[in-house]
Amino acid sequence: MKTRRFCPMCGRPVCKSMQKKNPFRCYNCEKDFNSRVVLRIKDLPKVKKRQRIAYRNECQHGDYPHGFKRPYPKNKNFIGNNNIHQDKYNIANLIPLNGSYHLKHGVRQYDVDKANRYVSLIEGSRSSKHPRNGDIIRLTTRHGDYYHEAHLEGLDDCGFEVCEQPYVPFIYPSGDKNGIRCNTSGGGWLHIPPKALKYVGKEEKEFCDWGWNGACGGGAVHFKAEVSVWEYIQPNALYGKFSTKEWRRIRLDKHSEENWKKDGYLYSGSGLAFRNQEELDEFMKLYKGTIFQGVWDNSFIVWCYYEIQVGVSQEEWNRLPYPETKKHTKIHPDDKRHILYSYFFNKNIY
Ligand SMILES: [Zn+2]
Repeated sequence: MKTRRFCPMCGRPVCKSMQKKNPFRCYNCEKDFNSRVVLRIKDLPKVKKRQRIAYRNECQHGDYPHGFKRPYPKNKNFIGNNNIHQDKYNIANLIPLNGSYHLKHGVRQYDVDKANRYVSLIEGSRSSKHPRNGDIIRLTTRHGDYYHEAHLEGLDDCGFEVCEQPYVPFIYPSGDKNGIRCNTSGGGWLHIPPKALKYVGKEEKEFCDWGWNGACGGGAVHFKAEVSVWEYIQPNALYGKFSTKEWRRIRLDKHSEENWKKDGYLYSGSGLAFRNQEELDEFMKLYKGTIFQGVWDNSFIVWCYYEIQVGVSQEEWNRLPYPETKKHTKIHPDDKRHILYSYFFNKNIY
């Protein structure tokens, strides 16, 4: 029922209250008001000003900025549902996520309430059709770099702003369909065109915001909420199907004739060195490598199998049906996972 009166604190439309003395109630501020203090249509400029100030304060304090158009809540069911919703965090289960914060400041109910508000804000705003701020992106760049938990910061004029390797994002409520805004540190930023993301599921992700002690050293409270996960593979891949998601990448430099004679190595890089072309060819065959020209004249990119070394006892070694190499290891490739198992005899294992 419309009252055509507005809250003198937050400027939101008020509802009718059960109290006779204070017949108007603002459910956002959880206060009842009498007819002298509530604002009216003629006070509209004042109402707008209160709304602007309230919105700014709520965002800064991590409160949920409810709408200003209709009285909050729309109906009683809304409150009912809200109360039935089980809070994810309490002091006991928030502490393990905030070890050093708890030592320094102590986790308080304020932090628990804030974490729970954020969880419902984030999880209530996720969608499987539209990417939202704070979602996870499985990102493969055209250079073959794979990032399992790239971070969607937000949408700007150039598309989705994405961080390859983010720190835990600082967030605050946005009051729009995204639920939150992020302020993230981290490395490697790029833009992804809207509509290029493919929905692949949901996953829990960690976020943080300042705790009860405000912005201070070690004063951020961490919590987790479920977000949508999207996949993006940058077009025009430089190395075809190869990426660090499933393949080992080696950067090799080919040395000049002069250096080769001096050091004895023709190729080196990524912790490997090869004395001559034959050694490299042998490696490529064993690890099923594919070689690409690098950016520079004498640089190369090799995509090949990972290696896992396994020590085994004499008895096991004898039983292994795999071929033996010159380096006295027995090798067995896992072609599905691109891993070369390299077994060696370890006399300390019985
Ligand atoms: Zn109010």
